[in-house]
Amino acid sequence: MFGAIEEKLKNSEKIVFVTGAGISQESGIPTFRGKEGLWRKYDPMKLATIDAFYDDPKLVWEWYEDRRRNMLAAEPNPGHKAIAELEEYTKVVVLTQNIDGFHQKAGSTNVLELHGSIIRIKCTVCDFKDEIHSRFEKFPPRCKCGEILRPDVVWFGEALPQDVWSEAITHANSCDVMIIVGTSLAVSPANTLPIYAKQNNALLIEVNPESTIMSADMDLSLKITSANALPHLVSIFKRLT
Ligand code: NAD
Repeated sequence: MFGAIEEKLKNSEKIVFVTGAGISQESGIPTFRGKEGLWRKYDPMKLATIDAFYDDPKLVWEWYEDRRRNMLAAEPNPGHKAIAELEEYTKVVVLTQNIDGFHQKAGSTNVLELHGSIIRIKCTVCDFKDEIHSRFEKFPPRCKCGEILRPDVVWFGEALPQDVWSEAITHANSCDVMIIVGTSLAVSPANTLPIYAKQNNALLIEVNPESTIMSADMDLSLKITSANALPHLVSIFKRLT
């Protein structure tokens, strides 16, 4: 299955992964879209926009707290672990849309969180930012400055952190291989990263049981789950090196 790409993988100096909610699905974390996606049960515009937050901060906070607890109770799966293990063989950069921290927990050392992190908070007004250290007594929690705190995640319609995004483009522009895992490629601008890689003639591989809007543009589209596909990739590297 991986035969055609072995040569390119063998000579690659940098592999960039672009990951989305699907890579954490086998850790028990629901995706947004696709089968069993969260958006089939909730309306994102009521929960993941700044307008929704100001309309009902308590509701949005309770939803995030529920998700945060589920994420903290879950563990990275063989897909995350395979990406971390790949660092033994080549330079690896992970550009993730996920907010769950599983790549770092699995041992990846070069992770850019494009959409922030569910374990961090920030003030809606001042520049206070921190990790969440304990349970909140009341929702919405308040900053020392008196204003409302919010999860440090990027909501629909918000800009990505500029420094993180420009570093992500630099990596996408300069990789030999980009492996796109578990993302519907429906969310902009993260969904433009494969285009930057293509401009550098990188090999594009997609791992997703379902087709996406870019499946036809891939050099290889593996329609299997990431916990199945990614450990194979590491075994190829073990054999090649
Ligand atoms: P998405 O929900 O739009 O798409 C998920 C994709 O993963 C689908 O294409 C689906 O076919 C695929 N998929 C499902 N199970 C898979 C598996 N086992 N292996 C491989 N692929 C699988 O996700 P997205 O593109 O990341 O959407 C972007 C937004 O979702 C981001 O803003 C992100 O913050 C948010 N999100 C993150 C988490 C998380 O941190 N774990 C969870 C839900 C949503």
